[in-house]
Amino acid sequence: MEPSISIRNLSLDFGSLRVLKDLDLNVGQGEFLVLLGSSGCGKSTLLNCIAGLLEISEGQIFIGGRNVTWEEPSQRGIGMVFQSYALYPQMTVAGNLSFGLKNAGLPKAEIAARVDRAAKILQIEPLLDRKPAALSGGQRQRAAIGRALVRDADVFLFDEPLSNLDAKLRADLRVEIKQLHSKLKNTMIYVTHDQIEAMTLADRIAIMRGGSILQLDTPEEIYLRPNCRYVANFIGSPS
Ligand code: ADP
Ligand code: MG
Repeated sequence: MEPSISIRNLSLDFGSLRVLKDLDLNVGQGEFLVLLGSSGCGKSTLLNCIAGLLEISEGQIFIGGRNVTWEEPSQRGIGMVFQSYALYPQMTVAGNLSFGLKNAGLPKAEIAARVDRAAKILQIEPLLDRKPAALSGGQRQRAAIGRALVRDADVFLFDEPLSNLDAKLRADLRVEIKQLHSKLKNTMIYVTHDQIEAMTLADRIAIMRGGSILQLDTPEEIYLRPNCRYVANFIGSPS
């Protein structure tokens, strides 16, 4: 089967600094791929390249078999969730969820149906009329996920969506995200620096360091057979 996302020889420079180095990556249809690595290794940059928020210096990006390298973010068929919720503070949750769809010119009934469906899945129906300031951290992050969900995208890109939450909430939402993925079966690229999050969520983990992928494997393989000392130390493998 054709991969859902295919990245070929991707490099990205910020000025004279090469932040992503000749990356190759294939993500399968419906796969939950986690990009794992310490701060500054290039995880967010890679995600933003896939989303089209950054122009790449070299290489090509394919989504659903289509070369999207030069397409605008809105054309790429992706839903994205950021670390800091990035909700519009002046709008209600319903307003936040429907904003992108209104801009895309979808009919009102279709927008309402999609907002309803996302709100049901995420159990935020009672919150639709509230503004972000009146929500807890977990509720805000659910709303942010809802905004990605209503796009009906085949591909979700999540950038450390739980890192601003306390440990208990993080654990709860981790389970919810896993369930959401089992239900929707969309392709997911999920960025984190948290090993436990990666181990529990991922079908496969890509360990990044210095703008490269060191190892790409199932959690079990990475844990039991790390391919270098750095990966072994990072993941805490038995030595
Ligand atoms: P991560 O998400 O893994 O923490 P980033 O992708 O944010 O890492 O950053 C990778 C590297 O690129 C870091 O060295 C960071 O300082 C640098 N970087 C990120 N964004 C910019 C930018 N807009 N301009 C210049 N350098 C940047
Ligand atoms: Mg980041």
